[in-house]
Amino acid sequence: MSDNRPRRTFAVISHPDAGKSTLTEALALHARVITEAGAVHGKGGRRATVSDWMDMEKARGISITSAALQFVYRDHVVNLVDTPGHSDFSEDTYRVLSAVDSAVMLVDAGKGLEPQTLKLFKVCALRGIPVITVINKWDRPGLAALELMDLIEQQIKLRPTPLTWPVGEAGDFRGVLDRRTGEFVKYTRTAGGATRAPEVRMPASDVDEIDAAVWHDAVEEHQLLSADDADHDQEGFLAWRTTPVMFASALQNFGVAQLLDLLLDLAPAPHATEGVDGSVREVEDPFSAFVFKVQSGMNAAHRDRVAYARVVSGEFDRGMIVTHASTGRPFATKYAQAVFGRELSSIEHAYPGDIIGLVNAQALRVGDTMYVGDKIEFPPVPSFAPEHFQTATAADIGRYKQFRRGIDQLDQEGVVQVLRSDLRGDQSPVLAAVGPMQFEVVQERMTNEFNSPIRLSRLDYQVARRTDAAGATALAGKRGVEVLQRSDGTYLALFVDQWRAGTTARDNPDVMLEALPAGGG
Ligand code: GDP
Repeated sequence: MSDNRPRRTFAVISHPDAGKSTLTEALALHARVITEAGAVHGKGGRRATVSDWMDMEKARGISITSAALQFVYRDHVVNLVDTPGHSDFSEDTYRVLSAVDSAVMLVDAGKGLEPQTLKLFKVCALRGIPVITVINKWDRPGLAALELMDLIEQQIKLRPTPLTWPVGEAGDFRGVLDRRTGEFVKYTRTAGGATRAPEVRMPASDVDEIDAAVWHDAVEEHQLLSADDADHDQEGFLAWRTTPVMFASALQNFGVAQLLDLLLDLAPAPHATEGVDGSVREVEDPFSAFVFKVQSGMNAAHRDRVAYARVVSGEFDRGMIVTHASTGRPFATKYAQAVFGRELSSIEHAYPGDIIGLVNAQALRVGDTMYVGDKIEFPPVPSFAPEHFQTATAADIGRYKQFRRGIDQLDQEGVVQVLRSDLRGDQSPVLAAVGPMQFEVVQERMTNEFNSPIRLSRLDYQVARRTDAAGATALAGKRGVEVLQRSDGTYLALFVDQWRAGTTARDNPDVMLEALPAGGG
């Protein structure tokens, strides 16, 4: 079932353990999940990519694709796009951010901003995606609320504008002050947060005596914030100057409905998107979409390969013939087995902001555009700074042809970046990845899918900078740096650490050494 109600499409950016899975479950509890899902049932290394969501699906009986969770709230359709994290952190984690209109930055109140959150935040900054900040785990002891605001402002350079303010310090969560209405939203604990935590709203005059002292503190801080120009500013939020902040306990389901309300009221709806030639696709124009993630199953027998695309404009009807922009060829979506997974005909239509999963769409690659009507091609999804490097060689040199084909295929799919140099030769390219799990995926697919087991050998590099042909020449033979070329022609200079990258840049001021987006950049 799907329909053309207004959409909100967002992702949660967070560090492992901040509570993303808990929040996702809580969101689903508050809403009506409509997507029948589970498109990918991988094996081996792939399972980790979907495990959180699959477990959740089993445990709660809710339905999730490995790419997006869709639900209805207040007559809006909300798409929550998954950002793979933990051990399966990879380029996909960054790429999915090209498919959303806003992001929720989930912060552990006890820890503040952590490395993975900051990496993902940089990608949002690059793309100008508005960010809502949720301070989670307020039911546990943590940092002071004002201190957290300072940390956010210092580390991400967006002015925090709290919409709610905690009543009671971290660990003594009584509720929040709704800074827009001045009301007390009282938090009522439920056993294990199993059901919706009732949020009782009351005017300031009704605040109980037991809460009076902490309420007084909250009001004082609220006034301080207003004096400090920290009230919500919608224009500033959309223009990437401010981040609205709210306080929650995902585990106790407190603040979750507030977050949904906020997404509907403040976060941007799907909007017009510019093509590479400068033409603009309005959401009401004929169908167009771009692929932001391709996932291949590990099961050699099935060779399942799902291309996930975000609808940019128009209506998608299952079975429609679209044009594949990079080849100019028609592409029949009826041969794509399923949209949104397991139930083959469960979704017949999709609208701007929705995520469609096209099964066995072998021709589709990350960044590809599909369209109907006037030609449109959306800008490529950028590649991000790899931080892990290994050389690959065919275990059986007699299978070099298979080796070459497999490596090229995985390169095109964006599973890893493949780097080469004359010095290393073609027999032993360098594979570069954002997360270490990508090598396991390569290993397994090379063995099972391309019949060419490989030997991987770790290189000591951690940092990649963009350079050019002149840079490659200038840096050749220098200590602690190696320049290789990516298949898209980009030259990458690899360094053992940031320090070496820094000294090399200082010692060679004429050499171009640019940081790449996100990661070690
Ligand atoms: P993820 O790695 O970001 O998906 O984090 P999880 O949702 O798995 O949560 C990590 C741990 O933090 C789990 O033990 C959760 O029960 C716990 N947790 C998540 N949210 C809260 C919260 O609001 N309060 C408390 N006390 N614990 C939480």
